[in-house]
Amino acid sequence: MPNTLDCLIVGAGFSGIALATELKKRNCTFLIADQNPSVGGTWFTNRYPGARCDTPTVDYAFHHSPLFDQTWQWSEDFATQPEILEYLQQFTNFEQLQPFLLLNTKLSDLTWDEKRKQWQATFTDGKTLTARFIALALGSLSKPFTPTLPGHEQYEGQQWHTAQWPDTCPSFRDKSIAVVGTGASGIQIIPELAKECKKLYVIQRTPSLAMPASDNQQAFINRRRIRKTQRKLFLNMLENSQFGSSSPTAKTPGTNMSDEELETRFDICWRNADLFAMIGITTDLFSNIQSNRRVENLFHQRLRSHSLSKSLADTLLNTPDPFGTKRICIERGYYASLSKSNVQLIDVRDSDVSLERHSIHCSKSNRNEKLLPTDHQPERSTGYQIDAVIYATGFEAFTGAILDVDIQGCSGVQLRDFWGSFPKTIAGIFVRGFPNLFLLQGPGSPSVLTNMAQSAQVQARLISQTICNQLDAHDSVIEVTSNQEIQWMSHSQMLLEKTLFYNTRSWYSQKSNVNPQLHFLPYVGGIPKYEKEYQSIIAP
Ligand code: NAP
Repeated sequence: MPNTLDCLIVGAGFSGIALATELKKRNCTFLIADQNPSVGGTWFTNRYPGARCDTPTVDYAFHHSPLFDQTWQWSEDFATQPEILEYLQQFTNFEQLQPFLLLNTKLSDLTWDEKRKQWQATFTDGKTLTARFIALALGSLSKPFTPTLPGHEQYEGQQWHTAQWPDTCPSFRDKSIAVVGTGASGIQIIPELAKECKKLYVIQRTPSLAMPASDNQQAFINRRRIRKTQRKLFLNMLENSQFGSSSPTAKTPGTNMSDEELETRFDICWRNADLFAMIGITTDLFSNIQSNRRVENLFHQRLRSHSLSKSLADTLLNTPDPFGTKRICIERGYYASLSKSNVQLIDVRDSDVSLERHSIHCSKSNRNEKLLPTDHQPERSTGYQIDAVIYATGFEAFTGAILDVDIQGCSGVQLRDFWGSFPKTIAGIFVRGFPNLFLLQGPGSPSVLTNMAQSAQVQARLISQTICNQLDAHDSVIEVTSNQEIQWMSHSQMLLEKTLFYNTRSWYSQKSNVNPQLHFLPYVGGIPKYEKEYQSIIAP
């Protein structure tokens, strides 16, 4: 290896591996550092019971290598965490990326050396490296968020976060457990815990909507067949899809669809538990509130008639924002588990949650108290004895892992100061004043609104092309201008304001120091528009 690498990639999940594969093809010198002892990123750390993909894994995969496709066979349509982790490990071996891995190595500082036009990277063990380019592939959803519940210092029971699951899964047999959070992770772990626990308290602040998982073998077989035998067609489908998915999506708005037509489409999405087909069921699901409500009504009707008792339906269908603006989940026994005698759903929408030594407490907050007549007010505080708390409380999305690194760009400016109260990027990749630095799946990227494996590969291709165009000119620097920044930000903001995502509340715009005004962070235009706009603004 030379003294100064062409590129240091940080993060060995889907994005980091995708970029490494591209750079290796183009004969760049690079290394991939990761704090974990294995590749896998999110699929290494999120190893809680029930963790699996809810995008069909035939789509949620690398598409670089037809040869690897001949050796790898998914065992089911929505693969489990261990299978996806094994896929990533085997792909890394197949692409002979092992020699480029620096595992168990956590990046702490990055400093731009203006004179040498290169980055200096320092790791927590004191090791340093220099590289012309840095690619931060740290994951949009990688730094776990754990709320600081009042009383946590006196709590003496066990506690885990779904995204920091221990190597050896604890036994929950005969235990009383509280799960805080009912997003995608909560919905996956709760039915598994319900099989074992003596008592399971499900602490729900905002419900998520979920479709029952499908066992439609035919859909799985078709997808696999097309990928294998009609590869060009399959890749075209992914490239031309807003969501980077091979799922069928509508070409017409809901306003042009009869009720029968909409219901027929809905049935197919529901039967296949097809998330991207569901959010692509009409072209105006996220821009026309009437179309959105029609789909939401069908969703609610289906849940009322198939999955939910009347009393649960009132709580679980009471979602504050338009349909799909909080991520739709796939469930395997989640709703059924809430009706089990050992499970209790606790709605804490208007309550404060706190901990004591061996219990979790939900007390009515003052927020809506005045609105209720006295005889309808729940008891002020209820405590539940527990042995453990499981936080399924998600992530410091988009910015958490990046800002854990001290990043100092031109003129000594720190990234956290530059971002201040808004993580401004261009295409979710570039940050003005931080030359030769690339973010993968960063704030402002299509990432989490798409098939993440596909959008990772699109960004990896764009970044590797940019890097390789510069390799011969040793002292050239890639730096975006304020004009490009203005163009990109106004383009993405204009798209956002036309959608129902604007002003909604979820982790897509999670409140944090970096985003106190709750700006919606992902790019809403979908992958093909993103690439087109990228070519016109960044690489004309
Ligand atoms: P999440 O969607 O952010 O859910 C976190 C949950 O914790 C929410 O229900 C949230 O309530 C609740 N919560 C947070 N702080 C709380 C507090 N102080 N008191 C009570 N409740 C609190 O996180 P996630 O479930 O880990 O999922 C995040 C994303 O990761 C998903 O949307 C998905 O993109 C990805 N993911 C994918 C899969 C998959 O493919 N199968 C699986 C897991 C995760 P509020 O909504 O009220 O804030």
